[in-house]
Amino acid sequence: MTFPALTRLQDGLAALKAGHLERRRRLLDGTQGAHATIDGQRVVSFCSNDYLGLAADPALVQAAHAALETCGVGAGAAHLITGHHRFHHEFELAFARFVGKPAALLFSTGYMANLAGVTALVGRHGEVFADKLNHASLVDAAQLSGASFTRYRHADLAQLEGQLAASRAQDKVIVSDLVFSMDGDIVPVDALLDLAERYDAWLYLDDAHGFGVLNGGRGGLTERARASDRVIYLATLGKAAGVAGAAVAGHAGVIEWLIQKARPYIYTTASPPLLAACLLESLRQIEAGDTRRERLHRHVAQLREGLANLTCGTLMESATPIQPLLIGANADAVRLSQALLQRGLLVPAIRTPTVPAGTARLRITLSAAHSTEDVAQLVEALHAVA
Ligand SMILES: *Cc1c(COP(=O)(O)O)cnc(C)c1O
Repeated sequence: MTFPALTRLQDGLAALKAGHLERRRRLLDGTQGAHATIDGQRVVSFCSNDYLGLAADPALVQAAHAALETCGVGAGAAHLITGHHRFHHEFELAFARFVGKPAALLFSTGYMANLAGVTALVGRHGEVFADKLNHASLVDAAQLSGASFTRYRHADLAQLEGQLAASRAQDKVIVSDLVFSMDGDIVPVDALLDLAERYDAWLYLDDAHGFGVLNGGRGGLTERARASDRVIYLATLGKAAGVAGAAVAGHAGVIEWLIQKARPYIYTTASPPLLAACLLESLRQIEAGDTRRERLHRHVAQLREGLANLTCGTLMESATPIQPLLIGANADAVRLSQALLQRGLLVPAIRTPTVPAGTARLRITLSAAHSTEDVAQLVEALHAVA
């Protein structure tokens, strides 16, 4: 039995397939890591965000086992009912101290944390100013807030300043990825803070890809941004931290406001406390993780040197472990990705709507868990398939 609504949906699926835009979930067995079993094939994976190789680290696994014995599995309730466990609480204190902010709040996912953070700062009479390449969760957060939504060209602070000057909204927030997730470039934090100060706006920075990696693991905030009460900092904890969740850090009044007002915080069950116990161990590993970070930065240099004169694509400017290889057409990116997979190298093709049309790319991500040989193998394979 079919009906018109279902037919339209199936036509939509067929259109995705025809445009090489259909997505598929790959099946992972065993642990996440630089070497993984995906769709039954043993591969070197260049697409996880487990930048430090912590996702299956024995110390974190051990922390999970130990916590399980004392706190069980489920949180059982929202944070404001009875779900706020001492492990959650201790992690918030440790995280705030580590990133140099007065207070922090733990969320189950970065997506939810962004919905909460942005909607709590501005409402219908406010205005959100956003970089056009911001992560989808920040776009959705702006829309959910009901505020006016003004976007500026990627990294175009002159355009942003014009928009701020023209704004008549009382509550303003500048929202940006700190490290852009599909491009790997880093935002000029202090220049954004200058604008935020000049126009009395909040500055909300999403450091999903910088936390754990930049500045001894503390992430991409500058000293000035750390000290500024108008800067709100978000780190996700499922990437370099290797576990799950996200934390928002800022002035104690901002964090208290989120607890009182942010619906995506209030109306959801707390994450399992054992994850917070893992996160405490992860924080220790990040803090002591200079060796991992040095290895990671060596891999970045090795890759960039190896691909400097590649013919099938251009490595985008990036000093972070996100090293996108710009290809252009969807079909070409997909074809290259498939050719690499035949050689046991997993590098996904990223297409619209995740990135602008005509800028399909291979998003290579590096990890401290890779070896020098892994990176050399990828460089060789890319030259061979080009
Ligand atoms: C991954 C990501 C998120 C979402 O975080 P999750 O914990 O995966 O929900 C938010 N912002 C950016 C920039 C991201 O890359």
